[in-house]
Amino acid sequence: MRILIANDDGIYSPGLAALAAVAKKFGEVRVVAPDVEQSSMSHAITATRPLTYRRTTLKDAGVEAYRVNGTPADCVALGAFNWASVDLVLSGINLGTNLGNAVWHSGTLAAAKQGVLLGARGIAFSMPVSEEEPQFEVVAEWAEKTLTYLMPLKDVPLINVNIPLAPKGSRWTRQSFRHYDGKVVPGQDPMGRKNFWFTVVPIEEVEEDSDRWAMENDFVSMTPLRVELTDNDQLQRMRAAAQM
Ligand code: MN
Repeated sequence: MRILIANDDGIYSPGLAALAAVAKKFGEVRVVAPDVEQSSMSHAITATRPLTYRRTTLKDAGVEAYRVNGTPADCVALGAFNWASVDLVLSGINLGTNLGNAVWHSGTLAAAKQGVLLGARGIAFSMPVSEEEPQFEVVAEWAEKTLTYLMPLKDVPLINVNIPLAPKGSRWTRQSFRHYDGKVVPGQDPMGRKNFWFTVVPIEEVEEDSDRWAMENDFVSMTPLRVELTDNDQLQRMRAAAQM
């Protein structure tokens, strides 16, 4: 079992080292991750300049690791190119949840998705962050439990996993989509010039059985996602309707 690990927080994120330590129990592990933070880069690829990588050391993780001057999707593409027959791409553990609409922006999820496009399985892991230094003991224990459970489910290609800080169980969930949590907040710089933060606002109303609902109720959230975006219901409806 060849497991390629990437993330979007950058190669020196403690979340990545925590995931690599867990993954080692399941197979042969190689880390290929961005040299700097690439959060919210989604599935961007680098097409206007060449990519390069350098071998690096991950403190305590004891795995082969490479830092790439590119996006999460670049890292998985390059990793799979240099290491044939990757079975599974793991991404994370992202410092920050990836729930609801964040799935569209997330570089963490895009790395797993890139794995699926290349014929492997993909699983993305994210956890909440607070003011405190992140603690990985409990989250890593649940990442291992989750992987043990998901590993035999070979016909589920892409899964978005979010792990609360103190889980009491796990739930299969749907991506919450009714509310968009992005917001532009205007401000100004020290010179008095206008600027804008594109930030996240809390969502009040949480859809039951959604990824957000699970996390708010301290359950590990597992959302199976599809890569094919065609809305088949609409396609059938349109084909059945009068043509132009
Ligand atoms: Mn991130």
